[in-house]
Amino acid sequence: MALLNLKEFHSPRSLADARALLDANEDALVLSGGTFLHGLEARGLLSDVEALVDIRRIGLDAVEIDGAGLEIGATATFARLQAVPEVGTEAWLGALADALTYPPVQIRNTATFGGCVAAACPFFDIPTALLALDASVDTDGPDGGRSLSLSELFMGLFANTLDTGELITALFVPRPAGRVASAFLKLEGNANDLAIVNAAVRLSVDAGGVCTDARVALGGGVAESTLRIPSAETILLGAKLDEATLRAAGEAVADDISPMSDHRASAAYRSALAKVMTRRALERAVARLS
Ligand SMILES: Cc1cc2nc3c(=O)[nH]c(=O)nc-3n(C[C@H](O)[C@H](O)[C@H](O)COP(=O)(O)OP(=O)(O)OC[C@H]3O[C@@H](n4cnc5c(N)ncnc54)[C@H](O)[C@@H]3O)c2cc1C
Repeated sequence: MALLNLKEFHSPRSLADARALLDANEDALVLSGGTFLHGLEARGLLSDVEALVDIRRIGLDAVEIDGAGLEIGATATFARLQAVPEVGTEAWLGALADALTYPPVQIRNTATFGGCVAAACPFFDIPTALLALDASVDTDGPDGGRSLSLSELFMGLFANTLDTGELITALFVPRPAGRVASAFLKLEGNANDLAIVNAAVRLSVDAGGVCTDARVALGGGVAESTLRIPSAETILLGAKLDEATLRAAGEAVADDISPMSDHRASAAYRSALAKVMTRRALERAVARLS
């Protein structure tokens, strides 16, 4: 990897020091796990970067789970989350547990949650799961902090809505009330490749098995951003989650996507697969509900 204009590398030990470095140089880039810098550089997106600010030593890697939800420090790695027992056992977090199984072990040991959502790459898996789980990010910027939903964070292909010098400090996944399960599935061309299509869902049901809340999210090039699928959510809400409903929700996703054609798949193939992957992710979540 060659960052053509790179002149400085910084490794601050506190958020305040990182803030000062980012405020002093608007051409500085936040470095976290560093696993996607080559991907951004190969697309010509780092040509203006003059300094790297490595945030892995500023103490943002805590992970906490309680009655309110799951708080993930921005520099917590995927492997760190996989080691949290509840992530593997609690049905409401099923989508996250599923998505974390796909990246190769070297990436899981290095890639961070802040980096994976800040990259705004529609082909990643974990952001699709986090979107279905209603996750939000907390940030620290030149004008203070704010909280953003992932839909507000993702602006387009490799573009987010963070201001210059603004960094993500943590992610929060709220714990939904009641009987809830989530699930994630990915279609990849070969092992360790990025997604052709991925799907994540979260379903809540009442005692009679009627759906009281639904989230459907798709990624993998079905649009320029990972996105929610309201057309499918509307079909699920208030319905019994039987085979016909899950099939109808899968068919409905076509209304909300604009798939791209690239070296991995054509738009038509992605469109067909998005329906199937959505239905299968719903079936997996329904199985977890019982
Ligand atoms: C071989 C390989 C296989 C992979 N397989 C998968 C897979 O199967 N599934 C999957 O989902 N992903 C996969 N990935 C992608 C991987 O998930 C991303 O590379 C990773 O999530 C990026 O996180 P990072 O911490 O390394 O970010 P970095 O590379 O450090 O940064 C990425 C971008 O985010 C910015 N950034 C980082 N942290 C912050 C922050 N806290 N605040 C603001 N901006 C920030 C950086 O400035 C940069 O623009 C794979 C990657 C590789 C290289």
